[in-house]
Amino acid sequence: MLRTHTCGELRMEHVGQEVALTGWVQRSRDLGGMTFVDLRDRYGITQLAFNMETQAELCDQARKLGREFVILAKGKVAERSSKNKNIPTGEIEIIVEDLDILNKAKLPPFTIEDNTDGGDELRMKYRYLDLRRNPLKNNLMLRHQLAQEVRRYLSDVDFLEVETPFLIKSTPEGARDYVVPSRVHEGEFYALPQSPQTFKQLLMISGYDRYFQIVKCFRDEDLRADRQPEFTQIDCEMSFVEQEDILDTFEGMARHLFKKVKGIDLVDFPRMPYSEAMEFYGSDKPDIRFGMKFVNLNEQTQNKGFKVFDDAELVVGICAEGCASYTRKQLDKLTDFVKRPQIGAKGLVYVKCNEDGTFKSSVDKFYGQEDLKAWAEKCSAKPGDLILVLSGQTDKVRKQMCELRLEMGSQLGFRNPDKFAPLWVVDFPLLEWDDDGQRFHAMHHPFTSPKKDDLQLMESDPGKVRANAYDMVINGVEIGGGSVRIYDRELQKQMFTALGFSDEEAQAQFGFLMEAFEYGAPPHAGIALGFDRLAAMFGGQDSIRDFIAFPKNNSARDMMINSPSSIADDQLEELSLKITAEKKDN
Ligand code: ASP
Repeated sequence: MLRTHTCGELRMEHVGQEVALTGWVQRSRDLGGMTFVDLRDRYGITQLAFNMETQAELCDQARKLGREFVILAKGKVAERSSKNKNIPTGEIEIIVEDLDILNKAKLPPFTIEDNTDGGDELRMKYRYLDLRRNPLKNNLMLRHQLAQEVRRYLSDVDFLEVETPFLIKSTPEGARDYVVPSRVHEGEFYALPQSPQTFKQLLMISGYDRYFQIVKCFRDEDLRADRQPEFTQIDCEMSFVEQEDILDTFEGMARHLFKKVKGIDLVDFPRMPYSEAMEFYGSDKPDIRFGMKFVNLNEQTQNKGFKVFDDAELVVGICAEGCASYTRKQLDKLTDFVKRPQIGAKGLVYVKCNEDGTFKSSVDKFYGQEDLKAWAEKCSAKPGDLILVLSGQTDKVRKQMCELRLEMGSQLGFRNPDKFAPLWVVDFPLLEWDDDGQRFHAMHHPFTSPKKDDLQLMESDPGKVRANAYDMVINGVEIGGGSVRIYDRELQKQMFTALGFSDEEAQAQFGFLMEAFEYGAPPHAGIALGFDRLAAMFGGQDSIRDFIAFPKNNSARDMMINSPSSIADDQLEELSLKITAEKKDN
């Protein structure tokens, strides 16, 4: 090594030692008699001192160092006269005796500081410079630590890390495939895995009864906020298990990670059926850091002459404790919030439960004090509380109320990022009706097994069949999901039929798996956790982008290497491809 120590290493106990440090010039300060240079590497910052009186030439050299120059400095560790309590090396400095410029640097396009002046786009273009900054460095270190702990936990309970291929064919996880043309097999394509789903099931059939992999998955989705076309999963599968075994094992893993990485003891994860999550939180990933559960007010509100409620499939309320004092302006703001196009409610009804026991509502014309009292009782509202009510078609109004509940939770400070409320959402529906395509889709994926009790509904009422499927949810964020698998050829075939596959299509796409089921497939189940999302949650941030070293931007483009990009004509020819579409301007 060119260096003897890192820039984060030296302390008082090293005073007097001759050392060599390497790194980047963070800044230099010229104070006339002395010049100080902050030298930075991955490990920290150490102050270099140059004395004009004793080493004029060296000092002169130091003054000419630009930001981000790469240098090697040799000298003696000395105690600082004015100490900096804010950094671990703040008690010492290096009295430099020898300075070597290893490489010059152009002035970076933004400052390499925790609070940089660089905009998003510029930082994406120069990601390698952005990665020099502490916030990103800390994120990557956290990600590394999590990966180590995941491996440790899973290895300790006999999971084997096995790699699966990237050049495969379609795995149906509900997105479009990224495809790769084959040169050797003209006109044929590989698909990149949306997940290693079929391979991990095949590994179970091979007898590797506990598999995991920290693995890239590729999904060509319409990019919603904070999705990445390639992302990382902690992908796992187990044989000879039931649903509870998976839940226990991965609850254990989550608990291990929280303990090791954050020093937090997580509570036991409650299990909540999907139907309950939808009924009381309007979401399959409820944030249960706070209550404010939905209350069905159909009985209390309908047939009193208020047409909006009478025509609604569902009238639903939440009780915001202590909010009866909300002003007109605050209530108008909430109304605007639910009326935003992204939420799409027509309006918001409120009832203030006054301290004196009376009620004031926005629908006083239709409802008397006795009526409103009945609403309040149903909502367990006390004097001082505010009831907020939405109505409409069940699915829609639940989604809207879910947003309003989360907004109120935020306003009331119930969504503390340092508090963690995990749960398992279980018993998802097996199938989901797609109105546009007039067909069913697998809610999880086609390899998910139906609940035994619901099997008889597979043909008569497939929409009602529940699945052995589960999601791990923490603070309203889906951290992962999985299912107990089908391992019987006939049932798998029945599932493909329910999904509208012809026998030939099912055979062409998944014949290999159905055939494998005939060679002694053990009962198996699995789960995949979103590793980027987990890292972001541990880092206390909403966005996954800065927990990935080289992410794509919101239009799936890598701004740094400028990809995707066109390829040369001879490459196209080699691949037997012809571009017919006009190139769209980005
Ligand atoms: N392959 C599934 C997914 O990516 C996870 C699983 O079922 O294990 O969501």
